[in-house]
Amino acid sequence: MSNMFRNFKNVGKCAYGRGSFARLGEIIAPQRKENNGYFVFIVDDYFQDKPLAQQLPVESKDRVEFIYCGGEEPKTSQIDALRDSILAEGGLPAGVVGIGGGSAMDIAKALSLMLTNEGSSVQYQGLNLIKKPGVYHVGVPTISGTGAEVSMTAVLTGPTKKLGIKCDYTVFDQIILDPDLTATVPKNQWFYTGMDCYIHCVEAMTGYMKNTFSEAYGYKAMELCEEVYLGENAGQTPLNDEKLMVASFMGGLSLTYSEVGICHALSYGLSFVFGTRHGIANCICFNQLEEYYPDGVKAFKQMVEQHGIDIPQGLAKNWTEEQINKMTEIALGLSHMWHHALGPDWQSKVEPEKIKDIYRRM
Ligand code: NAD
Ligand code: ZN
Repeated sequence: MSNMFRNFKNVGKCAYGRGSFARLGEIIAPQRKENNGYFVFIVDDYFQDKPLAQQLPVESKDRVEFIYCGGEEPKTSQIDALRDSILAEGGLPAGVVGIGGGSAMDIAKALSLMLTNEGSSVQYQGLNLIKKPGVYHVGVPTISGTGAEVSMTAVLTGPTKKLGIKCDYTVFDQIILDPDLTATVPKNQWFYTGMDCYIHCVEAMTGYMKNTFSEAYGYKAMELCEEVYLGENAGQTPLNDEKLMVASFMGGLSLTYSEVGICHALSYGLSFVFGTRHGIANCICFNQLEEYYPDGVKAFKQMVEQHGIDIPQGLAKNWTEEQINKMTEIALGLSHMWHHALGPDWQSKVEPEKIKDIYRRM
C-alpha cells in the first residue's frame, strides 16, 4: 500500500444521466462571455450525419470540427495545426467541447491547453510542463472505458514518443455523462474500449502504488465491468451502458491514485511501433500476461469467449527483431509502470529478453 503524497485536481462539474447532453447549451452559456466569445466543438466524425450533430448548441460564431477518430491516434502535429487555424481565424475561444471517445476528448483537452501555451505540443509531453491554464473545456464521452473523461492527461503521439500532456490544467472543467450517447458503439469497439477500463482496474489493483482510496474506486469499477461482460445479463444493454460509463469514470479515478502496469507498458510499445489503437493493443498484450495477472487474464479470456470477440494473434511472425527491440525499449522505458507492478527492485525482476519473448508470443 502506497502512502506516497498525491494531491490532484478533480473534474470541475459532472452531469450524469440519460438526456443530460440536451443541457449542454445551458451548461456552457455562462462561459460565452469569455475571450472572443465563441466555442469550438471537437466532435467524432461518426456523428456528422447523426441526430447528435443537430443537437449541438451551436451559435453563429462557433466552430464545429468533425474529426475522424477511427484511424491514427491523436498526434502533436494535429493539435498544433488545429490550434494555429483556430487562433488565426477567430482568436482565443471562450471554450472547447470534446464529444467522442478517448481520441476526441484528448484532442479537446490538448487543444484547450495549446490555445494559451506557446510553441509546439511536443515540448509539453510529460508531467507538469504546461505553464498557463488552458481555456474552459468540456468532455462528453460517447464510448466508455478509457477514463479520459476524468484523467489529468491528454495522450498524444509525437515524433519520438507517445506520452500525455499531464497536469492539473488538463482536467476537464465540466463533463457530461449521458449513457444514451454510447448506444450505437459497434460491438468490437465496445469490447476493446471497455477492456481498457477492465485492464486499468486489474493493473491498478495489482501492485505497489495502490491505496485504500484507489481500491474503493478500482474494485467497484471492476465489479461493474464483470456485470457488463460476464454472466447472464452481460452485453450491450441500456443498463450495462450506464454501468460501463460509471465504471470508466471510477476506473480513471482509481488509476489517478494508483498506476497502470505491465499491460499498458507493452501496449504503448506496440502502439508506438505499429500504430495499433489503444484498446485493441491492450487486448493483444493482456492476452499474453496470465503469468502476471492470472485472475484478470482468466476473466478476460472468458469475456472474449462469451462475446465472440476476435483478438488478433500470430502477429509476431511478421515482426522484425528491430521492431521487437524498439517495442521492448519503449515498454521498459515506462519505469513508473514497472515500479508499480513489480516493486522498487523491478529491474532485477525483468530482463529485456523476457519482454521480447512475450512480444514474440503475440
Ligand atoms: P476512440 O475515441 O479512438 O474511438 C474509437 C472508435 O469508436 C472510432 O471509430 C469512433 O468513431 C467510434 N465511436 C465513438 N463513439 C461512438 C458511438 N457512440 N457510436 C459509434 N461509434 C463511436 O476510442 P477510445 O477507445 O475511447 O479512445 C482511444 C484513445 O484514447 C487513444 O488515443 C488513447 O491513447 C486514448 N486514451 C486516453 C486516456 C487518457 O487518460 N487521456 C486513457 C486511455 C486511452
Ligand atoms: Zn488505458
